[in-house]
Amino acid sequence: MTIKDLDLNKLQTEIKERETKIEQTATVLENLRSQLRILKQQIQEQEEQSGRLVSQKSLLERMVILKIGVKIELIDARSSHLLIMQEYVSEQITVAHQRELRQQLEKSLAALQSSCNHTFLFSWAGYRGSYSLDHDDAYHGSRLCVVCGKKEDEERIGSNDYKTLTGENSLVGYPNEHTTDQVEKLIWRPLGEVLEMYLDQRVFKLTQN
Ligand SMILES: [Zn+2]
Repeated sequence: MTIKDLDLNKLQTEIKERETKIEQTATVLENLRSQLRILKQQIQEQEEQSGRLVSQKSLLERMVILKIGVKIELIDARSSHLLIMQEYVSEQITVAHQRELRQQLEKSLAALQSSCNHTFLFSWAGYRGSYSLDHDDAYHGSRLCVVCGKKEDEERIGSNDYKTLTGENSLVGYPNEHTTDQVEKLIWRPLGEVLEMYLDQRVFKLTQN
């Protein structure tokens, strides 16, 4: 075939046909892009909704743990430990009696800690220390069971590698006070009061219907 075989009319008809099809595909593309925008918007909304539901579920589950609380035997063991503590700090007791009470305290604490599931914890994050101080200011994260007073430090800083106070099936609170020693004194009061700290008021909004 050579140039003379080219048919001008045919060529122009074919061009017109292409132009029409280009316009048609442009319309289809515009529609598809518009649908895609809507789908992306819907995906984003569903992702946000899913995130909200996951955190609501987690909140509800935490409040189930709080409502179940601790076994009655554990509350009893804790109450008797508290009673001995109160007597121990009373000024009217003799030195001999105080010594006796100290032994009782050790025993009651050991009994309490051995039967405790460590369901209610406070946790403090560790700190790897600053470069400028050659990491001398580093400290380990630690946890404290508010029911039985058991303490544990993480082994490697920042790794949350707790052996006993793992936080599994537990409620973990993050108090503002910096050290366990400060908070340790606060936990020895009636358990009901201590556990109120874990109550998340948002649960009432979720359960009001
Ligand atoms: Zn405990």
